[in-house]
Amino acid sequence: METLRQIAQKINIAGTTTILAEPMSHHTTFRIGGPADLYIAVRTQSEFRRAVAILAAEGIPVFIVGGGANLLVSDKGIRGAVIDTNGLAEAWPSGLSMVVQAGIRIDRLAEEYLARGMEGMENFYGMPGTLGGALFMNARCYEKDISEIVEGFTLLDVGDRLEYFVNDASLWAYKSSPFQKGGRYAGRYIVSVRLKVSPGKPEALASIMRARRMDRVAKGHYRFPSAGSMFRNNRNFGKPTGVIIDSLGLRGMRMGDAQIAPWHGNIFINRGTASANDMLRLIALAQERVKSAYGFQLEPEVLFVGEPQE
Ligand SMILES: Cc1cc2nc3c(=O)[nH]c(=O)nc-3n(C[C@H](O)[C@H](O)[C@H](O)COP(=O)(O)OP(=O)(O)OC[C@H]3O[C@@H](n4cnc5c(N)ncnc54)[C@H](O)[C@@H]3O)c2cc1C
Repeated sequence: METLRQIAQKINIAGTTTILAEPMSHHTTFRIGGPADLYIAVRTQSEFRRAVAILAAEGIPVFIVGGGANLLVSDKGIRGAVIDTNGLAEAWPSGLSMVVQAGIRIDRLAEEYLARGMEGMENFYGMPGTLGGALFMNARCYEKDISEIVEGFTLLDVGDRLEYFVNDASLWAYKSSPFQKGGRYAGRYIVSVRLKVSPGKPEALASIMRARRMDRVAKGHYRFPSAGSMFRNNRNFGKPTGVIIDSLGLRGMRMGDAQIAPWHGNIFINRGTASANDMLRLIALAQERVKSAYGFQLEPEVLFVGEPQE
């Protein structure tokens, strides 16, 4: 097998950025995470394909990062390659839809919709991350799931096949998508997405977008590095998870620099130099306390990725 350095050079021939031992803390909103063995930032669909094909031929595992807004990366980092899709950020109208590359930022996409007087993305304004990550997570904002506006998607697989699929609404559920483990498209990479659009009133759309952002500012979403909600909500709990955690007086609780936000029980923040280990210990503590007080098992919404911690 070639060394990672040789593989990086091969991918880099096309001018693609490749970095060995890149700290993932630079690519996650938590600002936490050890080194990815090989980090690759692609700018075009053909760079993406080329990188995936070379890595597949060498048997190197691949992890895709968008905005890193829903990730807790291990202090030991990620073995294999990480492909960053942020360079894939074009959007163009196509018939009655929009076709959008997976790495576009959600905010930019919402602004693109607004500029064209189209509704569909306004509720997502202010949510960190990319469209690809939003699809993977089936992101949900203000009672709207991203899956509601998805018409179809083009996926890449390790066999270098690019294929378009018409969306099937029955494959999605609350925070669950067909790209996740066990789903129909697990293991494939989202390259671009065909989204529904419908005409809207620009003033009304702009006012909703402003309100969404202001609401997030008021809720302290951007005050410290975080990954948004730590745990999923669960209808069976009868209350939002944040309220359950609050009720046990856990707000403000710390493990090193990892803290349950003093203003919100379901937002876990990095006060400066938190490690993944600190954050995992804090997650375990919240789970234990909730389990013993209510009997509920809190399920993290944030994905833990990379090499397992001790
Ligand atoms: C302040 C704050 C507020 C938030 N508010 C919300 C909210 O209101 N609602 C909500 O649902 N979430 C919220 N989040 C979480 C986060 O913004 C979303 O989950 C977002 O959709 C993640 O997108 P991303 O690009 O950052 O994905 P990443 O975190 O980079 O990746 C998430 C998963 O998607 C996979 N992935 C990414 N791109 C692709 C691709 N092209 N192909 C295949 N797989 C891919 C990754 O491999 C990973 O498994 C919030 C986070 C923060 C920091």
